[in-house]
Amino acid sequence: MEYLGEAVALGIDSIIFGICLRQYFHCKNAIAAVKAAEFHEVGENLNTLVNNSPDNRVGYVAIRGAVKPLGKPLYSMTDKRSTGVIQKLSVKEHVVARTTAGFWSDQERTMQEVYNSVPFALQQGGYQVEVVDPMAADILDLDTISDYFEPCIPTIADHIWGFFTGVRQRGLQSTEEMLRDGAIVTGIGELSKSVTKPGSLSLQPPLSGTPFYLTTMSVGSLIRNLDDKKRTYRWLCLMFGAIGILIGGIMARRYWKDQEQQRHLDELRQSLDASRKERRRRVRDKDLREDQLCVVCRSNPREIILLPCGHVCLCEDCSDDIIDDCPVCRTGIRQKSAAYFV
Ligand SMILES: [Zn+2]
Ligand SMILES: [Zn+2]
Repeated sequence: MEYLGEAVALGIDSIIFGICLRQYFHCKNAIAAVKAAEFHEVGENLNTLVNNSPDNRVGYVAIRGAVKPLGKPLYSMTDKRSTGVIQKLSVKEHVVARTTAGFWSDQERTMQEVYNSVPFALQQGGYQVEVVDPMAADILDLDTISDYFEPCIPTIADHIWGFFTGVRQRGLQSTEEMLRDGAIVTGIGELSKSVTKPGSLSLQPPLSGTPFYLTTMSVGSLIRNLDDKKRTYRWLCLMFGAIGILIGGIMARRYWKDQEQQRHLDELRQSLDASRKERRRRVRDKDLREDQLCVVCRSNPREIILLPCGHVCLCEDCSDDIIDDCPVCRTGIRQKSAAYFV
């Protein structure tokens, strides 16, 4: 309990450090995998590649082609001329909220997010590769079709309400994004013969857990993008690692100081005990009868009464070490008191 504050801080720091480290390695492995993946334009060569591979499956490959819906495309909600295969509709609430430090800051809250999709393929020159499970992609680049901000006009009552609740409405932002019909996309994933349509090929998330990408970036830009992320996570790892070491250091320093203080107190108590014993020794009566001597040391006078048995059989020095039972009758000691003979 003594180090609760530091322990909580260290715990939170370790969790953040762990997440950053995981992301760092995720980026690092993804970069290595993308660099090692062969790049092909969609075409006849892909059939040859798959046919020559074990199990007719290429573990990780980058292919490029134009998006083509397999069936009816999706129509944009705001621009009827735009068609696509993946549609993301989101509504965000913009507010100005009072932070714990007392400042007002702009914040966004996602109120609704809907994805729609239809089956599609990447095609070029009459050849096509069906894309399976596109929503599982780590990076899914979508075009913004519309982005509309509707501001709120606050009334006096809203201002007063906002002052007390610490949240003021600014407006609603509605965004529509799409993976457009005809967009040139680089898909990086596992290529195999299609299960549903014999004779055609499909690209899907790799079984090995390597990330699946559907991006309008080139492979080079994707690698640069991942490299930037990797660098950011490396900095975060170093920062949170350093904070962890710092907190650990503070805890160790506090522990050492507490120990030192305890040792000091013990020494003080021992020297006080010793001086008290010495004082008692000096004032004791040396000339005592046998039945007046402490039953343990046989040299000091009997000075302490043990309760509840009532035996006066110990000197004060010996009574410090005897805490359980009376040495005469073995009754448990509940209380000790100084005894005076007059
Ligand atoms: Zn004694
Ligand atoms: Zn007794």
